[in-house]
Amino acid sequence: MEISITKTTEPAEKPDSSILGFGKYFTDHMFIMDYSQGEGWHDARIVPFGRFPIHPASTVLHYGSEIFEGLKAYRKADGSVQMFRPLENIRRMNRSAARMCLPEIPEDLALEVLTKFVKLEQDWVPSANGTSLYIRPFMFGNDESLGVHSVKNATFMIITSPVGSYYKEGINPVKIMIESEDVRAVRGGTGEAKCGGNYAASNRAGERAELMGYSQVLWLDGVQRKYIEEVGAMNVMFKINGEVVTPMLAGSILPGITRKSILELLKKEGIPATERLISVDELVEAMENGTLEEAWGCGTAAVVSPIGELCYNGKKYAVNGGKIGELTQHLYDTLTGIQWGKIEDTFGWTYSL
Ligand SMILES: *Cc1c(COP(=O)(O)O)cnc(C)c1O
Repeated sequence: MEISITKTTEPAEKPDSSILGFGKYFTDHMFIMDYSQGEGWHDARIVPFGRFPIHPASTVLHYGSEIFEGLKAYRKADGSVQMFRPLENIRRMNRSAARMCLPEIPEDLALEVLTKFVKLEQDWVPSANGTSLYIRPFMFGNDESLGVHSVKNATFMIITSPVGSYYKEGINPVKIMIESEDVRAVRGGTGEAKCGGNYAASNRAGERAELMGYSQVLWLDGVQRKYIEEVGAMNVMFKINGEVVTPMLAGSILPGITRKSILELLKKEGIPATERLISVDELVEAMENGTLEEAWGCGTAAVVSPIGELCYNGKKYAVNGGKIGELTQHLYDTLTGIQWGKIEDTFGWTYSL
């Protein structure tokens, strides 16, 4: 597809890598493409980054039809740039779109515009240890009327943000609160779609946990509040008695690409791993009898985030003495090694610009 490019006349100063943080700075341009029923995707354009007009009756502002993705571009030691499994993000975005009655984007078109846009912004991919360029594709329903129906017009955009190392002061295990009141998702709902509404609804529990000194919540299933689902914006894995277990994908959990990659890695290394139902009772028992050896969250932002403490119904349990476990460290080292090109990628996960 033809992409029109309007370059900024005021390129921004690139921030020093020590102050990057997450999602605070944006690159000079953004990608926009419109969809309308009948015409399909059209008007692909790269324009200077900035505010843009939106109709006050736009669907997204009233009925929340929005989905997003998150992936990263990494600068290798030789200066070249690579992305991690971008096609997986594109496929997941199309599955989210189908759930939310938003239009899908043909895989080759999505990969083409993504690659072209990141290439144009590639000077923004930072090179300091642990830094990367976070890529945020997103799509929203953009009908200019208040009628409630599936959308006939949508907008797809990509913005990019140089982000700092998630672990500036070394990998510190986090404290997680098991949430027994609010629920994130139910089967048949939108839990397996990466949609903004899931986040809006989960903020209350997150805020409560934060007030009590916990960094995120561990969600239980929405029906029986009995089975482990995931942690905040990450999937969750446990090492119990030498075996890795993670909740199976049954419709309410976000199918993480980091989760998938870790399962593939464990399989290749011959480490037993099972996707199944894990009840909170089983987890509590494993914490009480000492068979819970390690626990970690996994997602694009942190890659692997060790869990050092879990709290359930007011009772606190330390995991691995509050320290990062051996396998957790190994998974972190291997995945980040492949992403930054320090370890050979025998899986075909990396995608050079
Ligand atoms: C994005 C996300 C994840 C992690 O997915 P990755 O593809 O590994 O980044 C997990 N849970 C939720 C709720 C998410 O939004």
